[in-house]
Amino acid sequence: PITPRVALVTGTSSGIGEAVVRHFCAQGHQVLAVDFNPAGAEVAEQAGAVFFQADLTDGEACKAAVAEAIRRFGRVDILVNNAGIQHVAPIEAFSEEKWRQIIDLMLTAPFLLTQAVWPSMRENGWGRVINIASVHAQVASPGKSAYISAKHGMIGLTKTAALEGGAQGITANAICPAYVKTPLVDNQIADQAKLHGMEEQQVIEQIMLKNAAVKRLIEPAEVAELVAYLASDAAGAVTGSSWNIDLGWTAQ
Ligand code: NAD
Repeated sequence: PITPRVALVTGTSSGIGEAVVRHFCAQGHQVLAVDFNPAGAEVAEQAGAVFFQADLTDGEACKAAVAEAIRRFGRVDILVNNAGIQHVAPIEAFSEEKWRQIIDLMLTAPFLLTQAVWPSMRENGWGRVINIASVHAQVASPGKSAYISAKHGMIGLTKTAALEGGAQGITANAICPAYVKTPLVDNQIADQAKLHGMEEQQVIEQIMLKNAAVKRLIEPAEVAELVAYLASDAAGAVTGSSWNIDLGWTAQ
């Protein structure tokens, strides 16, 4: 049987975060689903989660999200840092504003959320921090400097949290997916098709799956399964690690 926990999940209005919220609710966990997009309210309601609207590029909003979880549920046991965006431009043309937005959302917010949930996890002697990084936390591709820097940084945050949490019953792990079928990737497929004058299917096969041994996109539910494992009691010995779910991309 699965012990019911309290989870705070970010970036839940679509994609991987939505799949994680559904999976956690189905397992009987209480979930605060945090997103700046009001569409997240409907996703949360359908799944049986509570929605909290917050723009996580704002540090005060990060703290308010954790405060809301504790006010509603009395604790936070599981934190899933998932909210993310992409912006593609060569370094020479990359706007400082986009750089700062991506670092704020994808590196500073996970740090502030980890900091804010820590006292609750420490007091309970049990905690799980699960960071949705990317294959781009392990390798780079041109045009994605801010995203790749934030994701590589997230691995450093994960390892540090693992070392600090070990004696307190808190584990921290990262998940590194290759391309997952989500709106974030749909937008990239459309952009690349326009850019290269290709069919969308060609973009998937020739660009997105170029480095993949398994030639298909990943389903959000497949990532949610791995999140659920890392959040479980069974994964208590797993910490400071990065789990690739990347179709074999980084095997070469
Ligand atoms: P998605 O666009 O479906 O979901 C991202 C979510 O983050 C959305 O709900 C969006 O509203 C939310 N968000 C964006 N900006 C926010 C802000 N300022 N404050 C609060 N919420 C905000 O994308 P996804 O593909 O499900 O991505 C989820 C995570 O997985 C991201 O961190 C992404 O980098 C990572 N990831 C995705 C893929 C992929 O191929 N889709 C691969 C590897 C890693």
